[in-house]
Amino acid sequence: MSDILQLVKERDPGEREFHQAVMEVMASIQPVMDRNPEYRAAKILERLVEPERVILFRVPWVDDQGEVQVNRGYRIEMNSAIGPYKGGLRFHPSVNLGILKFLAFEQVFKNALTTLPMGGGKGGSDFNPKGKSDMEVMRFCQSFMAELFRHIGPDTDVPAGDIGVGAREIGYLFGMYKKLKNEFTGVLTGKSLGWGGSLIRPEATGYGSVYFAAEMLATRSETLDGKTCLVSGSGNVAQYTMEKLLDLGAKPVTCSDSSGYVYDEAGIDRDKLAFLMNLKNVRRGRVKEYTEKYPDAVYAEADPEAEVNPLWNHRADCAFPSATQNEISAKDAQNLVDNGVAVVCEGANMPTVPEGIDIFIENKMLYGPGKAANAGGVSVSGLEMTQNSMRLAWTREEVDNRLQMIMKSIHKTCLDAAEQYGTPGNYMNGANIAGFVKVVEAMLDQGVV
Ligand code: NAP
Repeated sequence: MSDILQLVKERDPGEREFHQAVMEVMASIQPVMDRNPEYRAAKILERLVEPERVILFRVPWVDDQGEVQVNRGYRIEMNSAIGPYKGGLRFHPSVNLGILKFLAFEQVFKNALTTLPMGGGKGGSDFNPKGKSDMEVMRFCQSFMAELFRHIGPDTDVPAGDIGVGAREIGYLFGMYKKLKNEFTGVLTGKSLGWGGSLIRPEATGYGSVYFAAEMLATRSETLDGKTCLVSGSGNVAQYTMEKLLDLGAKPVTCSDSSGYVYDEAGIDRDKLAFLMNLKNVRRGRVKEYTEKYPDAVYAEADPEAEVNPLWNHRADCAFPSATQNEISAKDAQNLVDNGVAVVCEGANMPTVPEGIDIFIENKMLYGPGKAANAGGVSVSGLEMTQNSMRLAWTREEVDNRLQMIMKSIHKTCLDAAEQYGTPGNYMNGANIAGFVKVVEAMLDQGVV
């Protein structure tokens, strides 16, 4: 397995996050490779780590001052063995090829776990929507789609949102696609309700992550009721994680953005959450303002250079990292253990460094890896595609029931695969193995393509 990692490092130097994602999967699937020599003969691993297609393009646009700006756009079409490429678009200044390849690679296995027919992809741009006017965001999205439209389609590649891409951006992207193709199709998910969106799609990743945590706790005959929870982020995933935690009787006590974090010992209740949602979604402000409105809460500035994030250093029962990759260092992981946290459920993608995951597993925590725990979002995106194809819309209750069923099924699939390959209770191995086997079997059926 180290030969594959070596190959990836030599071929894709500098793509640190991609190497990390490949390393994690390779460590889990060793026993599967040992039991299935035909996988090796078919060069399955070599094929899996090479995207089927990478699209890289210039995105020129004009800002409000009349100046020309140039960003870089990407779409990674990683693997289509079990369905059209599916995965979000991220607009953030940190976006580069390595980050998008890690996300696309994770997405392949995540989508395989959902039970729905979706391949894996990811895309985005180094464009920073923060501080831009609506018109600037619109002009950027239109220019981005002016190239992307020729590569995507409802049966080819169906992008969605991710960091920096919410309902506003999906609207502008969809409008331009429709104009260029003269077609009204389900080419993007995360659309608004009035024109093809699905109920529960905005809530799905956060709700799904909490459903997954509830399933993990049930294996120890526990529930979320009364549990104190650390949540990072204050975007889409974090907001609906907090909402579902409140529904199930838990108490979220933290939230954050890239500038800093808030600790509210009394708990972020429904009124405070409504304030936070308005602050982030409508006024597009910073979480610091939370402490101006609720002075009993405390705020600390983020220090990106520091080895520990104080958000993870409070007494609690559960942790829901829901901001970004590598936000839990090894020291943070140890702090979580020392503070009595027994459940870590990843709403974000790859939020924990590998040494941190080792600490969770050594300490027998209930650790739900992102590719299983946050699969609720892409699952409801899959349900949005189904509704678009059928040209009908399911009720809120129907979509939520399906989401709960899918999260239950992912949880069971992970546990069964972990047990079958000799690491009972290890959700990370279970998720990697189950996703891997499903994709690989499809690849073998379809020949060398
Ligand atoms: P979002 O709505 O844009 O929110 C992202 C949140 O994370 C914001 O609070 C943001 O702070 C914070 N953040 C972003 N980059 C950061 C950094 N480098 N350091 C510290 N904080 C940072 O995005 P989202 O959709 O909630 O996504 C959050 C995570 O969930 C990502 O890992 C994403 O890949 C994953 N995920 C999302 C979905 C989905 O359906 N949306 C599905 C599966 C997984 P600022 O406000 O300062 O930017």
